[in-house]
Amino acid sequence: MVPTAENFDLVIIGGGPAGYAAALYGASAGLHIALIERAKLGGTCLHVGCIPAKELLETAAVYRTVSRAGEFGINAGSPSVDFGVTQARKQQIVDQLTTGLTGLLKRRTVTLFDGTGTLHPGRVVRVSGGASGEVELTGDHVLLASGSVPRTIPGFEVDGRFVVTSDELLSLQTLPATAVVIGGGAIGCEFASMMADLGTEVTVLEALPKILPGCDDDITKLVTRAFSKRGIEVRTGVTVTGHTPGEKTTVVALGDGQSIETELVVVSVGRRPLSETLGLEGTAVEVTERGHVVVDERCRTAEPGVYAAGDLIATPALAHVGFAEGMLVVKDVLGEDPLPIAYDRVPWCIYCHPEVAFAGLSEEAAKEAGYDVVTAKQRYGGNGRAMIVGDNEGMVKIIAERNADGGAGQILGVHMVGPWVTEQLGQAYLAVNWEATAAEVAQFIQPHPTMSEVFGEAAMALTGRSLH
Ligand code: FAD
Repeated sequence: MVPTAENFDLVIIGGGPAGYAAALYGASAGLHIALIERAKLGGTCLHVGCIPAKELLETAAVYRTVSRAGEFGINAGSPSVDFGVTQARKQQIVDQLTTGLTGLLKRRTVTLFDGTGTLHPGRVVRVSGGASGEVELTGDHVLLASGSVPRTIPGFEVDGRFVVTSDELLSLQTLPATAVVIGGGAIGCEFASMMADLGTEVTVLEALPKILPGCDDDITKLVTRAFSKRGIEVRTGVTVTGHTPGEKTTVVALGDGQSIETELVVVSVGRRPLSETLGLEGTAVEVTERGHVVVDERCRTAEPGVYAAGDLIATPALAHVGFAEGMLVVKDVLGEDPLPIAYDRVPWCIYCHPEVAFAGLSEEAAKEAGYDVVTAKQRYGGNGRAMIVGDNEGMVKIIAERNADGGAGQILGVHMVGPWVTEQLGQAYLAVNWEATAAEVAQFIQPHPTMSEVFGEAAMALTGRSLH
């Protein structure tokens, strides 16, 4: 028998970044919150996304550093990889973060339910199929945050042996000698970079004319060149039709009649929203053909009091966008009239080697949007800190609106590639979102010696004067 429904200020379905951010932020504002998770708190990001992927990429970075230790006068010998140890370290970090998140939610007195949550008319949410048993809840407000799962493509059914998605790749106990990565987006490039560093011969196949869509062309060209120098073959404008498994390898057939033999195919063609777990029958919540829940600029669905956030909606599929949406929902619940999120200015970080980070428009996108632009490119080549670290390939490119006098005005976008740029994006993000001008940013002092001097120099160059 289902116990009498308990009422909450906010019932959240899905314990990934969007769901848990709303829970933590809402609870800290005094809301009575229920959070329902059917698998593991932390969602894709913590278990099969950001955290494990970046841990493996850091292993690759350590390998690169040790391989070059001799240049610094450190005799470390020739490194080799014990991927089992790598996996154990990754899991330890994931487990520690999961325990921390669970403890934090409990301390904030968020009521946790283990099971699948479904939404019914009247903001009734039923929980079933998990350790919490059959439970019925009602919410003054409900947030749908069920996230996403990897997309697959016909002819490449995931078998865990020859064909994997990110879900399986992140738990491999050994790396293959050869791999074909289908899809040259952020995740595909991160995997290609990590595997190549650790000794796998990698080919990236991308159907579009370039890898890393959304990045400025100058940045993409530099990544493609750097990949090719490290032996990663990038083939663009290529389609795949299927694969024929043999004993130890499989043969991937390309649209142009060619083929590639490989030990492993990594399908990395994006993710699809997971709306089918949510019930929704009899509610006004609208779902598109692609599975996204339709929302307005405050994440409100067509069902009164029901919101949706994170990968479930058609906004950039990033953990920090999920955090921002979760917090926006709480502010709306509290009647605080929140500002909508500027989705065209959110930060993007890609942790391949060289790293990529950007916020705002690329030069191509700015021109397409009708802006008359002026740009500055500053390279890491002569930067002291980058030389000390031994990693000085890359550039910062600033795209600014051209003023009537021909000079640079408002900064529309900053696109970076090179050492530690994911850690340097912060001030570029602020500049773009604060709608700062190049002259304003050029006033700020950059600490020396740091890699962030390259951003400062690029801003200065836009004012017509520079140091280097
Ligand atoms: P999810 O994280 O998918 O969480 C949804 C949760 O809801 C899941 O735990 C699921 O079990 C649960 N659920 C689903 N249906 C129900 C139901 N009916 N009842 C109860 N629970 C349910 N983003 C970044 O910002 N930076 C990165 O570096 C980055 N790297 C990535 C690397 C990889 C390999 C991948 C795959 C993704 C990466 N992402 C990254 C994207 C990021 O992981 C997602 O954008 C983020 O996890 C989305 O958060 P979410 O809360 O919307 O959904």
